[in-house]
Amino acid sequence: MKDGEVYMISFSGGRSSAYMTDRLLRELPEDQRIVCFSNTGKEKRETLDFVDRCDRLWGGVVNWLEYDAEKKYRLVDYATASREGQPFEALIRKRGYLPNVVARFCTQDLKIRPIKWFMLNLGFRYWTNVVGIRYDEPARWSKTNGIAEKERWEIWLPMVDWKVTKPMVLDFWKTMPFDLRLEHYQGNCDLCFLKGRNKMKRLITENPEKAEWWIRQEEMIGSTFNKRYSIRELVDLIRRSPTLFDYEDPDIDCICNTD
Ligand code: SF4
Repeated sequence: MKDGEVYMISFSGGRSSAYMTDRLLRELPEDQRIVCFSNTGKEKRETLDFVDRCDRLWGGVVNWLEYDAEKKYRLVDYATASREGQPFEALIRKRGYLPNVVARFCTQDLKIRPIKWFMLNLGFRYWTNVVGIRYDEPARWSKTNGIAEKERWEIWLPMVDWKVTKPMVLDFWKTMPFDLRLEHYQGNCDLCFLKGRNKMKRLITENPEKAEWWIRQEEMIGSTFNKRYSIRELVDLIRRSPTLFDYEDPDIDCICNTD
């Protein structure tokens, strides 16, 4: 830790990130850390519940942020946080096209930029952006490089320095009075286009109504999130051939991924 440095702790709403935040809140001086959570509106209800439980445990330190097409960001809380994809839909309308594997502007515009504008509004010009990527996720370590070079912050991955692995995080949550009530495939935006088809199938089979928002965006823009199929076609394929995609189809890695 450097004297006078401000640490913006990016809390994703996942277990690893919450573990990191919990530890940093005890290790960093109060006036040198700020905790932010960006809500896309397509997070699972359980993620918002978990963020709220953590926030109450930590004494209300979490700044809940959402993308706002006019004001760049808005501050919300557990009660007012969007649950029907409103920030995400507002972004798609503003851009006039859909994010996809190549143009993943949703991460940047829904998660990273609202925090940046919030920090600038607080009067900070430079800060350390603390990200919850673990020691056992080496493929993700470099995902933050491009962002750090272009922006006003340095990236710090404390869980890499601390050599924290997934089993350590899971052990920690076993000792806590609450936990994230999601399975590994259920986190992040519910039908994120970076999820493998096997995961998509499970999610659509469990909650077919979750597909409706994604279908609506595709039909509004006249394009698809995935160039191989539309969400409507995927839902139809799964309904007609329930054994389809019964194999592991890895996710495409991104800094959004939380577990
Ligand atoms: S989880 Fe997926 S859909 Fe949501 S912001 Fe990240 S990349 Fe975009």
